[in-house]
Amino acid sequence: MSDAVDVLIMGAGPAGLQAAVHAVRKKASVVVVGRPERSAIYRAHVENYLCVDGITDGHEMIEVAIAQATRFGAQLIEEDVLHVEAEEEGGFLVRTEGKRFHALSIIIAIGTSKKKLRVPGENELAGKGVSYCVDCDCNFYRKAKVVVVGNESAAVDGAITLTKYASEVTLICKDLVVSDAMHQRLAESSVVVKQDAWVKEIVGDTAVTSVVLDDDSILEVDGVFIELGSKGPMELATAIGVELDMETFSYINTNKKMETNISGVYAAGDIAGQPFQMAKAVGEGCVAGWEAANYVKKLKRERGE
Ligand SMILES: Cc1cc2nc3c(=O)[nH]c(=O)nc-3n(C[C@H](O)[C@H](O)[C@H](O)COP(=O)(O)OP(=O)(O)OC[C@H]3O[C@@H](n4cnc5c(N)ncnc54)[C@H](O)[C@@H]3O)c2cc1C
Repeated sequence: MSDAVDVLIMGAGPAGLQAAVHAVRKKASVVVVGRPERSAIYRAHVENYLCVDGITDGHEMIEVAIAQATRFGAQLIEEDVLHVEAEEEGGFLVRTEGKRFHALSIIIAIGTSKKKLRVPGENELAGKGVSYCVDCDCNFYRKAKVVVVGNESAAVDGAITLTKYASEVTLICKDLVVSDAMHQRLAESSVVVKQDAWVKEIVGDTAVTSVVLDDDSILEVDGVFIELGSKGPMELATAIGVELDMETFSYINTNKKMETNISGVYAAGDIAGQPFQMAKAVGEGCVAGWEAANYVKKLKRERGE
């Protein structure tokens, strides 16, 4: 069962929340999926945002933005999006940690995340057993022993996915930040969970052979999946054919209406490229929310709804 919504916004930072305000005020039903405390601005001190003179705490700004967006009628789901797919009858199926939505339009405002573990061996063995994308590389690890490193939804979802391919999957985490539904899925899976552990070195010559943990124990493995943060543009956007920038594959290409190459899909904020500034995120969020609501209105008119 999935809930129907006009505009589903991925990301509860300045871009996503501003998009929500503009879309919901144009009478679209709006769901925002994301964790506000994971927004880049949450721990920042801001002094260059227009109309806010003096230094302001980012988390206070985000809390006001949430109150504003929800007061106008947007619904906030404090989870991550794990999967998006285009549906045959039009629109998109969006799966979060614990819910499913059918959305007529989606706005991707998931910011950028640093995904490197920054340990010895990581750079040298990238592509030789070190991977940053379970969805892209799981097939290469059939019957292999793998570890997944991370504390958030991408790591848990990735580890569960890998159990369909690898012979042994170990999740190495310090402090899991996922919903109860994801904890439940993890408990029901065959993933071996190593809590309070972290990888301090990846070992191998031409391919990964083991990882050294921070208590100096050694795990012999064929693959290391570094899944820090939540699902990124590579997994979410490319699954529905959204084009990324050809240089770094980190940002989503948009036009001035914040439209991507896929009809009904918009992107805004840091995920749409530099400069990484709140003013840009908010401006793009405004445009994306506005355009997505117009898109839905037109779609419904054409369908005679
Ligand atoms: C230390 C620091 C200081 C800064 N100082 C300033 C400043 O002074 N002035 C300024 O203008 N800018 C500043 N910035 C930059 C500013 O924070 C960003 O440009 C801005 O937050 C971008 O907004 P965004 O909405 O695009 O992304 P973010 O604010 O990063 O929000 C991303 C959102 O996406 C969510 N998300 C991620 N993955 C998923 C997923 N799979 N499913 C659902 N949701 C997901 C996250 O949970 C989060 O809610 C600073 C940044 C940092 C790190």
